[in-house]
Amino acid sequence: MQHGRHKWSALILTALAAAVVLTTGAQFRQMHRDEVIVPGPGVTQTRMLSDYFPALAGTTGDTEVYILDGEEPGATAFVLGGTHPNEPSGLMAAVILVERAQVKAGRLIVVPRGNRSGFTHNDPQEGSPQYFRLTASDGSARTFRFGSRATNPLDQWPDPDTYINPSGQKLSGSENRNLNRAYPGRPDGTHTERVAYAIMELIREENADVSVDLHEASPEYPVIHAIVAHEGAEDLAAMTVMDLDMEDIRMRLEKSPPTFYGLSHREWGDYSDTMAVLMETANPSQGRLRGRTDEALVLTGQDALYVRAAELGRLYVPYDDEGHPLEERVGRHLSSLAALFRNMEFVGDGEPFVIEEVPSFDEVMANGVGYYLNPAPARD
Ligand SMILES: [Zn+2]
Repeated sequence: MQHGRHKWSALILTALAAAVVLTTGAQFRQMHRDEVIVPGPGVTQTRMLSDYFPALAGTTGDTEVYILDGEEPGATAFVLGGTHPNEPSGLMAAVILVERAQVKAGRLIVVPRGNRSGFTHNDPQEGSPQYFRLTASDGSARTFRFGSRATNPLDQWPDPDTYINPSGQKLSGSENRNLNRAYPGRPDGTHTERVAYAIMELIREENADVSVDLHEASPEYPVIHAIVAHEGAEDLAAMTVMDLDMEDIRMRLEKSPPTFYGLSHREWGDYSDTMAVLMETANPSQGRLRGRTDEALVLTGQDALYVRAAELGRLYVPYDDEGHPLEERVGRHLSSLAALFRNMEFVGDGEPFVIEEVPSFDEVMANGVGYYLNPAPARD
C-alpha cells in the first residue's frame, strides 16, 4: 500500500517536472528566435552584417541589413535600431522604414536589430515583459521582443570589474556588453566589440553620408527628446531641429561630448566620414521610477508614478496621464528622420535624399504603430 502511494507521487512529480521543462524550454527557444520583419516594396536587397565583417557569420551578432535603393542617385543614409533592445521605439521606427518606405533618390540602409544578442534575453530583476504585440494593417498580430540593454551573457561572459573600451575609456564592468560603449569596435575583441566593428565597417564600406542611431531614454534622464550630433553633423542636426519645431515637435540639439568615447555619435564620426547622429525619445518602461512593468506600460507609456515625478519637477520631459505611448515615440523618430533626410541636400556634397511613405508624427499618433506594419506571414 505504502509502496503504491510512492509510485503515484513519483509519477505525478515526474509529470510536473516534464511540464516545467517543456514550457520553459519552449519559452527559451522562443526567446532565441527572431521576430518577423516583412520587407516592403522599397527593399531592393537584404544582406547580413557579416557581409561587412565575415567573422560574425553564424553568431548571434549577425543580423539583417535591409537596403532600399532609390531610382535616382543621391545621398546614402544609414539607420540603426535596436542598439538597446529595451528601447522599443528605435526598433519599431526602423522596422516601419523596412516595411513601408520607398526611396526615390539616394540609398537607405537599415539595421533594425543592432544588438541582436540583446533581444534574446531580459535585464535580470527588472520584471520586464518578454514581448509586446501590435495589430498589423490587416488585423493580424505582430509580435516584437522587449529585450535587454546589454548583450546576452550566453554570448559574452564573465564581465570584468572594469571595462576599458576600444578608445581607452574606463567604464564599469557591465558596460562591456553595451554596444553603445564599444565603438569603434575591435575585430578581435569581445562579441559586443565585434558587432561594433562590423557596424563601423558597414558605415565605411557603404560610404554612408549620414548615420542615425535610434534610442530611448527614461523620463528622468537629461538627454531626452534630443538629437545628439557629432560636430560633423551639427549643421544638419540644427536644421532638422528647426524643421521639427515648425511642426510643433520639440527636440533638443545636443553636442556630442568630445571625450565621451565608445558612443555611436562620437566614434562613427571620428572613425569614418559619416555625419553621426543619435536620437532619443521618452520610454518609461526602462526608467527607474516606474511602477508595474508590463506590456501595457511598453505600449501606453502611462504610469502614475511618473505623473507624480513630473509634478515634483523631477523629469526632463512633460508627463501627464497621457504618458508617452509607443505611437508618440515612434512618430517622433520617424518625423525626425524625415526632417533630417529632407535637409541632406543642404549639407556635405549637396546630394539629395528623397524618401516617401514614411508616416509622420501626426499620422502615427492617429493610426497607431501597427497600422504601418505588413500582415504577419504564416509561421509554424
Ligand atoms: Zn539607448
